[in-house]
Amino acid sequence: MERVSLLTCKDYNPSALDAVIERHFHALDPHDFLIKPGMKVLIKPNLLMRRTPDEATTTHPAFVAALVRAVKKRGGVVTIADSPGGPYTRAALRGIYAATGMAEAAEKEGAALNETTDAVERVNENGQRCRSFQIIRPVAEADVVISAAKLKTHAMTGFSGAVKNLFGTIPGLMKPEFHYRFPDKKDFGHMLVDLCETVRPTFAFIDGIVGMEGNGPSGGKPKAAGITGAALNAHALDLVMARIIGFSAEEVPTLAAAIKRSLCPAEIGALEIVGERAETLLTLFEKPDSASLDFMENIRVPAFLRKPLKKLLTPRPVIVRSKCIGCGKCAESCPRHVIRIEQKKAHIAYTDCIRCFCCHEMCPVKAIDIHTFALFGSR
Ligand code: SF4
Ligand code: SF4
Repeated sequence: MERVSLLTCKDYNPSALDAVIERHFHALDPHDFLIKPGMKVLIKPNLLMRRTPDEATTTHPAFVAALVRAVKKRGGVVTIADSPGGPYTRAALRGIYAATGMAEAAEKEGAALNETTDAVERVNENGQRCRSFQIIRPVAEADVVISAAKLKTHAMTGFSGAVKNLFGTIPGLMKPEFHYRFPDKKDFGHMLVDLCETVRPTFAFIDGIVGMEGNGPSGGKPKAAGITGAALNAHALDLVMARIIGFSAEEVPTLAAAIKRSLCPAEIGALEIVGERAETLLTLFEKPDSASLDFMENIRVPAFLRKPLKKLLTPRPVIVRSKCIGCGKCAESCPRHVIRIEQKKAHIAYTDCIRCFCCHEMCPVKAIDIHTFALFGSR
C-alpha cells in the first residue's frame, strides 16, 4: 500500500519546519536507505517567476531550506534547480533566485543553485504520449530528485502539485511546445505523467502551509492552509492533497491519467495515510475561473450543438488593458503565437487560441483575466 505522510505546520518557522520535514522523511524512509552520503540530491522547487515568498506563487524558501538541512544531515550533496517560465538563461535564473528567496536560503544552508542552462535527453520507452524529453542537466544527472511543490490551483490543469511541478524540468521556452503538441487537457495530463515517469522523483513534498487558490498558478490569492505532505509516489501525494483542497481526481488531468495507468489508486482509502487524517485537514480552495470549461463533459448536449456551445462557453484569456505594461511575456509563452504587442498593449487573436492559459500564467502584473462568454472583451 502506498504511503502518504500528512502533517500540519502553521507557519514557516524554521525549527517547526525541521521537525515536520524530519517526520516526513522518517515516515517514508525510516532507515535512510534512499539518501546515502555523497549522493547528488536535486531539490526541484516551483519557481515559476519572480515573485516574493509571501505571494505564494513559489515554494517557500524556508520550506526548501528545511529540506536542504534534512538532506545534508543524511550526507546528500544538494543542488536546487528549476526551469521557470520564460527563457532559461543564467540572468533570468539569478533574478528569480533572488526574488523568491532561494539565493539567500541556498547560501545560508550551503546548497548549490543551478546556473547551467543546457538539457539532456531522457527516454522512457513506456511513455504513452511522449517517450523522449529534454530535461535540465542537474535533474537528469542527480542520484535523487525531490519534487518540492507548492499547493496551488491551476487555470489549465485545475490543481498544481508534485507532478505538475516537474514540468519545470523542461527547459524554459521548450514548455510552450508541449502545449502546442498536446492542446487537449487529457493528453497534456498524460504527457505530464510520462514526464514524471521519466524523471522519477525519489521523494515528493508539497508546501501547503500557504498555498494559492483561485486563478493559479500565478494569478490567484494566497490561502493559509497549514498543510504539508510527502510521499515516495508523487501521484498518490497529489491525490490526497487535491482531495483536501476540494478537487476530485477527474478534475485533475494528471491524476486521471495516473489512475488510468494504475500508478495511483482512485480513492484515498486505498492509501496508507500517516500523520494527520486527511478528513481533518479539509480546506476548500476557490477554483479557477476556467473550471467552467469542464462542465460540458458532464451534461447531455446533442452532438451538433456540442462544438459551437463549447466554443461559446469555454472561458478565455482577456487582456486588462489598463494593467498591461506591454512586456511581451505572454506573447513569448504563447504556444500558438496568437498574441501581438501593439502600442505597448497585448492583443489576442482568439481564432487559434487553445485556452492553455500560459499567457495568464506568465503575466507578471496579473493583466490577463479569465472570462466566460458573458464577459468577453478587453477592458
Ligand atoms: S498582458 Fe501581461 S504579459 Fe502580456 S504584455 Fe501585458 S503585461 Fe506583459
Ligand atoms: S492566447 Fe493564451 S490561452 Fe490562447 S493559446 Fe496563447 S497562451 Fe494559450
